[in-house]
Amino acid sequence: MSKMLPAIFLGHGNPMNALQNNTYTRAWSRIGQALYRPRAILSISAHWFVPETGVTIATSPRTIHDFGGFPQELFQVQYPAPGDPMLARKVQQLLAPLEVSLDNSWGLDHGTWSVLKHLYPRADIPVVQLSIDESKPASFHFEIGKRLAPLREDGVLILGSGNLVHNLRTYAWGHHMPDPYDWAIRFETSAKEMMLAGEFRQLIHYETLGPEALLSIPTPDHYLPMLYVLATRQQGERITFPVEGVDGGSISMLAVQVGQSSLL
Ligand code: ZN
Repeated sequence: MSKMLPAIFLGHGNPMNALQNNTYTRAWSRIGQALYRPRAILSISAHWFVPETGVTIATSPRTIHDFGGFPQELFQVQYPAPGDPMLARKVQQLLAPLEVSLDNSWGLDHGTWSVLKHLYPRADIPVVQLSIDESKPASFHFEIGKRLAPLREDGVLILGSGNLVHNLRTYAWGHHMPDPYDWAIRFETSAKEMMLAGEFRQLIHYETLGPEALLSIPTPDHYLPMLYVLATRQQGERITFPVEGVDGGSISMLAVQVGQSSLL
């Protein structure tokens, strides 16, 4: 049997992580070094949240600076990884009969490049992005993740990029770093327990998990990429958390890995 790549969800947090050297970015670098080298990456980023399912088809996807109010040096970041139109078409086949558009307008957004800059700084592994259809329920996204799982045996790294807890209204921007909010820690702790127990059904129906879940997930865009990754789990596979921490009080930087790296 060929080596199966893990699937990984990364909490990307503040876009400035792209330029920084901190405990999160160092952990991302270690993840990149520990993995079998993928032949391609399929990225599901919180920041391509649109009313349809699409995949990037460009051979040289552009680096998108999809934010405002950050220093100029962040707008100068480029992540010139090639695309992989064959992989885009393979995704389309795997998800049929769902309609998946082949998209030439998007590229790599900061959910993708702010972490890949640390995992694979040479930008020499082809990257395809898959959009998240904002009109569909969480169960739909989990189902898509299941159908993408065979790519893991085909040398493709399935990468989810978002944040398990993502509340920008309570987030402390700047240098003042408060302790994490109690509700953020409680939700993160119970979500981890559910993941380790394989209780994904409850995580899909997160709206029923009480006020802590609603504060942690005020909008689903940063949460859903994690469901894609969890859905690829095969029977008996381990779930680990290679990065932990809460940034600015209300952004969980938790990483969730399904399956084994070669070295971790
Ligand atoms: Zn984000």
